Amino acid sequence: MAIPLSAAKTLAALKAEGLTVHEHAGWATHNRDAATGKPFGPVIGVLIHHTAGHGDKELCYRGRADLPGPLCHSWLGKAEGLWMIGHGRANHAGAVDLDVLDALRAQTRLPHDDEADADGNDCLYGLEIENLGNGRDPYPDAQYRQAVLWAAALCRAHGWSEKSVAGHKEVQPGKIDPSFDMDDFRADVKKQLAAVHTKPGPVTPGAGTASKPRVDLSRLVRAAKTDPGARQGHVTYMAGTNLVEAALVGLGYLGRAFAGDGSFGSTTVAAYAKWQRHLGFTGADANGVPGKVSLTRLGDTSGLFTVVA
Ligand SMILES: [Zn+2]
Repeated sequence: MAIPLSAAKTLAALKAEGLTVHEHAGWATHNRDAATGKPFGPVIGVLIHHTAGHGDKELCYRGRADLPGPLCHSWLGKAEGLWMIGHGRANHAGAVDLDVLDALRAQTRLPHDDEADADGNDCLYGLEIENLGNGRDPYPDAQYRQAVLWAAALCRAHGWSEKSVAGHKEVQPGKIDPSFDMDDFRADVKKQLAAVHTKPGPVTPGAGTASKPRVDLSRLVRAAKTDPGARQGHVTYMAGTNLVEAALVGLGYLGRAFAGDGSFGSTTVAAYAKWQRHLGFTGADANGVPGKVSLTRLGDTSGLFTVVA
């Protein structure tokens, strides 16, 4: 889980991986964030699609009458190469299986997708590959190779492994795309990630800590002890509380509706206690008041912050 790359960092990451990148006019501000009121991110992985058509770059930018664009972040043509289509929330994943999202987040083997109970557009980058998807339309070697590089570039930039890569057919029941084998694709991404990076770009790896915001443990502890008993919405430590809540939301411990007001209220305390129990803490060590170990692990796992004690 991590903060989405900026448009500039996305471009840099893709180019550093060896890709030639074309930019659709307007792509860097083309998204569904404002229209839906749901900002894109934190991100947990990348999703691969086939378009089930030909010559559909503009369709992916514009969208359809029933589904506004962008319909992906990048579009990969058979002959036209890789194009940037959107940046931010895109209508590509739709309703997906929360269990599969959890596995992507944890970088474990993906379970079978049998439910559509989460919004995949919140947290996944999407690539649409121009292909009929009927099993008879070949993916030219150069096109497939670019898809591998696209996925590897984003994984590398975030410090993810190939286990953060999924096909649409693996996350949403009823989907069949892409029409190639995703275990093979992940193996190819893994190989690419292991390859020596011959063209280092100005990309800051997601694992780096230099640019991450910091959460002060003692101020956060004060917030967790003060806010629940104070008047509704009392704010002791807004910045730190919001980061911790964003991390708890991203990991599925806190409902989005309870996050972002800067108050470490009783719902946040309960969510934090769940996180502590997840780490194996019990009793008074899992009372919802952050400790150094649990907070450091939360910052690392979410990728959102580092801790100062
Ligand atoms: Zn799809």
